[in-house]
Amino acid sequence: MNDLKVVVTGACGFIGSHLTNYLKSRRYYVIAIDKKPVSECFLKLEADEIWQLDLRNWNSWELFRHRKIDRIYHLAANMGGIGYITSIGAPIMRDNTLMNINALEFTRKFNVERIFYSSSACVYPNYKQTTPEILPLKESDALPADPNEYYGWEKLYMEKMMEAYSKDYGINVRIARFHNIFGPYGTYKGGKEKAPAAICRKVALAKNGESITIWGDGKQTRSFLYIDDCLRGVEMLMNSDYDKPLNIGSDHLVTIDELAKIIIKISGKNLTIKHDMSKPQGVRGRNADLTLIKKVLGWKPKISLEEGLRRTYRWILSQLSMDSVSDT
Ligand code: NAD
Repeated sequence: MNDLKVVVTGACGFIGSHLTNYLKSRRYYVIAIDKKPVSECFLKLEADEIWQLDLRNWNSWELFRHRKIDRIYHLAANMGGIGYITSIGAPIMRDNTLMNINALEFTRKFNVERIFYSSSACVYPNYKQTTPEILPLKESDALPADPNEYYGWEKLYMEKMMEAYSKDYGINVRIARFHNIFGPYGTYKGGKEKAPAAICRKVALAKNGESITIWGDGKQTRSFLYIDDCLRGVEMLMNSDYDKPLNIGSDHLVTIDELAKIIIKISGKNLTIKHDMSKPQGVRGRNADLTLIKKVLGWKPKISLEEGLRRTYRWILSQLSMDSVSDT
C-alpha cells in the first residue's frame, strides 16, 4: 500500500472514475466522492471508500475534518459539451465556484499537502481562436482574459483563486488545463456528452447508407487527448514541483468533419455527413501547445487519435446495444 491517502472529487464522472482506478492501481488509498450514486457510474470504482455527497455543501467536507488527507484531486464540476455549456451559465458558475471554494478551504484548514484542479482549454480567449488554422495555445495566452463561455470564466477564476491561496496561505497547488479528453466510460447521450462521444453514438446508431448530422459546418478544428495519456499527465504533474497552469492535451489538430470520418471508417459503415448550422460549434479553432509540459514534465501523448477512437467507439457501441435490450 502506498501510504498516501487521496480524495478524488467527481469520482463517478468520466475522468474522475478513470483516475480513481488509476490511483488505486498505483496503490494509493483512494476516497472517491461524487453526488451521483455509485449505481450510475459507468466504470466500477475500485476505491477504498466511496461516498455520495454534494460537495457544494461545506457540511459534506466537514465529514473528513478528522481524517488525514494528503492530496485532493478536485474534478467534480457541473459541466458538459458545447450544447450544455452554451445553454446555461448561472448553475455552472454557482455550483462550481461553491465546490472550488470548499475544496480550497478544506485544503487550507485541514493541512492537505497538495491539491490538483482540472481547469480547461475553455479559459483561452476568443480572440486567439477565430480561425480553424489556429496557432496552438500556450499557457501564457490565457491573459488578457476573454474566455468563450461562463464555464471558461469560472475555470479562470478558480485558477486565480488557487494562485492567491498559494501566495497567502502557502498551499501547494497543481493546475491542469485539459483539452478535450475522450475515451470509454464517459457520457455519450442525454445532452452533456462531448463531440467524440456524440459522434460515436450517431455513427453507431446510423444504418449503412444513412447520414449523420454534425453541429456547425464541420470545418471547426480541435485536438483530442485519450484518457490514458491524460491520467499519466495528471500524475506526473501532481508529483512534480510545477505550480502554474499547464496544458494537458494533444497538438494533433483535426476538423470535426475529419473526426467524424475517422469514426465512420472505424465503424465500417458507408455514411454521409450533414451539417446543422443552427447548433452551437464553440470557438472556430483550438489546439494545445505542448512546449511547456514537454519541458517541465517530459510528457507527451502516446495513444493516437485513431486508436483512442477505436476503443471509445467499441465501448459506446456495446452500451447502445445494452440500452436497446433494456428498452425492449
Ligand atoms: P463529468 O461530468 O463526467 O464528471 C464530473 C463529476 O462531478 C460528475 O460525476 C458529477 O456527478 C460530479 N459532480 C457535479 N456536481 C457535484 C457536486 N455538487 N458534488 C459532488 N460531485 C459533483 O466531467 P469530466 O469530463 O470527468 O471532467 C472532470 C473535470 O475535468 C471537470 O472539472 C471538467 O471541468 C474538467 N475538464 C474536462 C474536460 C474533458 O474533456 N472531459 C476538458 C476540460 C476540463
